[in-house]
Amino acid sequence: MAAITRLLKPSPSPSSLSSLFKQSLSTTTAIVSDNIHPHQPLFQDPKPSRNFQWVFLGCPGVGKGTYASRLSNLLGVPHIATGDLVRHELSSSGPLSLQLAEIVNQGKLVSDEIIFNLLSKRLEAGESKGESGFILDGFPRTIRQAEILDEVTEIDLVVNLKLREDVLVEKCLGRRICSQCGKGFNVASINAKAENGRPGMSMAPLLPPQHCASKLITRADDTEQVVKERLRVYSEKSQPVEDFYKSQGKLMEFDLPGGIPESWPKLLEALNLDDYEVKRSAVA
Ligand code: AMP
Repeated sequence: MAAITRLLKPSPSPSSLSSLFKQSLSTTTAIVSDNIHPHQPLFQDPKPSRNFQWVFLGCPGVGKGTYASRLSNLLGVPHIATGDLVRHELSSSGPLSLQLAEIVNQGKLVSDEIIFNLLSKRLEAGESKGESGFILDGFPRTIRQAEILDEVTEIDLVVNLKLREDVLVEKCLGRRICSQCGKGFNVASINAKAENGRPGMSMAPLLPPQHCASKLITRADDTEQVVKERLRVYSEKSQPVEDFYKSQGKLMEFDLPGGIPESWPKLLEALNLDDYEVKRSAVA
């Protein structure tokens, strides 16, 4: 509980997360080597002395985890998904798990205090292993979370992924996770028709390899009723977060044109990272 209090009320104590975080930012150097550093993304304030600090926003099911995780591998910064932290806590037999299950399985948001506590622990563990920078996924989800994050550190870029709502629901219902390796897949074959001026959209399923196929599980909150509630909660609590970052000039809107094969190159292009992948693999 001390970690929550420290983060919610940043104190001048040298051991507070806020000061640890700032200290680590000022002393770490970017992992990306100078000669292959990507062009600064459109909205990024250049901070050559530290690593990327990005946020991914977007409705449940949009693919934040997929793209954040790919970028995390590309840029060498950790991908931190608060939903994963919550699920990890849920799967433990810790005192919080029963309380969390009730909230998460109804599609509601967990309290800011619990989220900050889980996030503080994750950041501190990462710092002790020498991690720097991050791509946050699923956080911040409320204006209060965004304001507190702003007090604690500086965010360079916020990517807001967008997809039509009927596709979001289908994607959530098709989502599967390998219970052994934790990798995510999607069994939905999406063919949404063009309507009301919106273009049609096709997405091939992302099927698991044979060794995962028999171990697939579905998230308890990926039922139609709960997904619809999560989408409602997103528009009530999280959409204002988009405006928060828009007013800071940090929001990059990105309409996903389709599945990973169409979207990934376009996203890299939008981030000015399109030639980075090629250069990086040439150096490796
Ligand atoms: P996700 O995997 O991001 O969809 O998160 C799964 C669930 O974890 C959400 O429906 C919330 O109940 C909870 N959760 C994850 N991140 C947050 C957050 N930043 N604030 C509050 N609740 C969260």
